[in-house]
Amino acid sequence: MNLVIIGGGPAGNTAATVGARLGAKVTLIEDTVVGGAAHLHDCVPSKAMIATGGALGELRRAAGMGLHADGRLDLDALRVRILDIEHRLQRSVETLLESQGVRMIHGRGRLKGPHEVIVETAEGIEELKADAVLLATGSRARLPAWAPVDGVRVLTTRQAYPPPEIPSHLIVIGSGVTGVEFTHMFSSLGSTVTLVVSRQQVLPRKDAEVAAVLEDDFLRRGVRLLKGARAERLERRGDVVQVRTDDGRFVEGSHCVLAIGSIPNSDELGLDAAGVTVDEHGYIPINNHMQSNVKHIYAAGDLSGKLPLSSVAASQGRKVAEHVMGLHTLEHRHLNYENAASAIFTEPEIADVGLGEAEAFAEGRKLRVTKVPFSANAKALISGDPRGFVKILSDPATGVVLGGSIVGRNAAELISVLAVAVTCRLRVGDIVDSLLVHPALAESLAEAAE
Ligand SMILES: Cc1cc2nc3c(=O)[nH]c(=O)nc-3n(C[C@H](O)[C@H](O)[C@H](O)COP(=O)(O)OP(=O)(O)OC[C@H]3O[C@@H](n4cnc5c(N)ncnc54)[C@H](O)[C@@H]3O)c2cc1C
Repeated sequence: MNLVIIGGGPAGNTAATVGARLGAKVTLIEDTVVGGAAHLHDCVPSKAMIATGGALGELRRAAGMGLHADGRLDLDALRVRILDIEHRLQRSVETLLESQGVRMIHGRGRLKGPHEVIVETAEGIEELKADAVLLATGSRARLPAWAPVDGVRVLTTRQAYPPPEIPSHLIVIGSGVTGVEFTHMFSSLGSTVTLVVSRQQVLPRKDAEVAAVLEDDFLRRGVRLLKGARAERLERRGDVVQVRTDDGRFVEGSHCVLAIGSIPNSDELGLDAAGVTVDEHGYIPINNHMQSNVKHIYAAGDLSGKLPLSSVAASQGRKVAEHVMGLHTLEHRHLNYENAASAIFTEPEIADVGLGEAEAFAEGRKLRVTKVPFSANAKALISGDPRGFVKILSDPATGVVLGGSIVGRNAAELISVLAVAVTCRLRVGDIVDSLLVHPALAESLAEAAE
């Protein structure tokens, strides 16, 4: 089996490793670095900057624990740290791919026909034959016509770290996951931040109670929320950036970051040459096996228009490799995107999985909802951060865990317990009966499951 993969992000490199391990002859084409945008621009640098902001927060909290420390920010050291993390991760992915015998080609790939792929490299053009092809080229920031992005003061999310300087006043346009993470990141590093929120709630798709905790935290930190307003004009005048909204409001800052979504990298892939179709937004529609309309051509990751998460992309890549090699084709092995855990790395962290409360009530579903605050948790009090809560949604008849949200310290880690419970259809009683560590934040999960 000759598997050719275009794009070495989480979807592509996971498919390559698993495919090679299962016995396929794999070629991986990547035009920047393996690890993809996830490592180079998105998850890794953003979370590294958030970690620095978090350390500053810890220093401030340390005063309450009897410690005094100087919290000066060294932007050059931060830049070196981010590059170092990226480099280490890239090397570890490369080592894994090499150890599995994956052939890596540094170049730009596209389809020439249903079974032919062309790669443009620095040395010239190479043509490859493929039994199966995986397209995993990811996505890029959406740029509205009204925003003169210059990469200096008007930035996409991929241009904002590490910044040459910490913005004195950052305007963040867009209040989805990326927008609120940027708001948190820069306000914790000392910027004044104005967040333009098109609806009446930040994180419009999330639980209202969860969004309210975050809004309270933002307001406490002096973040200005411009609610119910859509940005429609943006101008840069020297060192000043001016944004106008559709309800006539005006805000002026030193920098602006656009966090208004992404578009798929499907336009230069030669899809027509192989007969692969896209939807009206440019995403490649896929079935449960990640197959496009051309059955031996697969799409995974952001390009597939499913959940734009690195974790989902990697799981899709694994499934593609297994399917190509004829494994796990049965329905119970399909990915259930509704069970994907996700996290927002703000302070407090926010994480959720499975069924949402609002969505369940809208469907008129019977639900048992239990909520426990961390303020009664010993570990939360010991670590000096008892903010937030655990909420578990279960079926009142069977006790099966259907979903949950966690707001608080380490929520992104703790949600894994509920993710396993939702995927494996565990009952609340199974969580209660688990013998957990004390003192631990996870004890609040068992309490909420009672
Ligand atoms: C600011 C930000 C923060 C994020 N944080 C998180 C997070 O914390 N957790 C999380 O799960 N997700 C996060 N995401 C989402 C995550 O980054 C994406 O879902 C993930 O990168 C998608 O993986 P992928 O494999 O589809 O594509 P990518 O990671 O985008 O990789 C695609 C690769 O394909 C290459 N490529 C493109 N075209 C070609 C071509 N023609 N030939 C050769 N190579 C090509 C690109 O160079 C790139 O390396 C974040 C996104 C953003 C914008």
